[in-house]
Amino acid sequence: MRKNIVAGNWKMNNDLAETQELISHLKLQMVKQPTAEVYVAPSFVNLYNTFQSLKGTVINVAAQNMHYAENGAYTGEVSAKMLKSIGVNTVILGHSERRALFNETDELLAKKVDAALENDMEIIFCFGEELKDRKSEKHFEVVKKQLENGLFHISKDAWKNIILAYEPVWAIGTGETASPEQAQEMHQYVRSLVEEKFGNEIAQNVSILYGGSVKPGNAAEIFEKEDVDGGLIGGASLNAIDFLTIVNAFN
Ligand code: PGA
Repeated sequence: MRKNIVAGNWKMNNDLAETQELISHLKLQMVKQPTAEVYVAPSFVNLYNTFQSLKGTVINVAAQNMHYAENGAYTGEVSAKMLKSIGVNTVILGHSERRALFNETDELLAKKVDAALENDMEIIFCFGEELKDRKSEKHFEVVKKQLENGLFHISKDAWKNIILAYEPVWAIGTGETASPEQAQEMHQYVRSLVEEKFGNEIAQNVSILYGGSVKPGNAAEIFEKEDVDGGLIGGASLNAIDFLTIVNAFN
């Protein structure tokens, strides 16, 4: 059966000392085997030290972004090869902040997906509608297009490297969460899209995370929905106790 996964997206938070402090809190507080696979995604600057500090623990380390080229004249960018060289094998692609603030299009994301897969990396692929899309009842259409244009060109075999993350933009960092029913409705729809194109086995095995204001107080009711296999956590992942409460919110 598919895995439960909780990933902390630290975004552009925490300098070196703050990162070390958060990691030591995570290690101290993680007293039992978590009920989900756990990831944290620090900034590029802190990837290497985070990876080194978490070696030998159950916490995996992911990058928040990468470029599609292997190397070359791309000032300010980081490649899959560089990530792999420090031990990082997972990358978040398509986060709504990358899409909205850094103009990442579905076409660009498709190239990044290819580059990650060529390097045998695992991808946490994010998608989700904006408030205007939901208000005009276009949320299913928008999500379908993001998946078809950014991800659905991959081979069946590549799905073993894919984790999906539904993140309605209106719920990210706003304190407003999709209701468990809204999350379930979209996750079920997304699983049906995967099934239509890639078959039932792949659809049943892919983990679909929910992201958007998941907190210790609402994680359990969201995670208990049939097609919700965990969460991508922003704000609440910056506090070790809150994050670990979410990590252990599965029944
Ligand atoms: P949030 O962010 O939990 O702070 O809403 C989620 C995300 O952007 O991944």
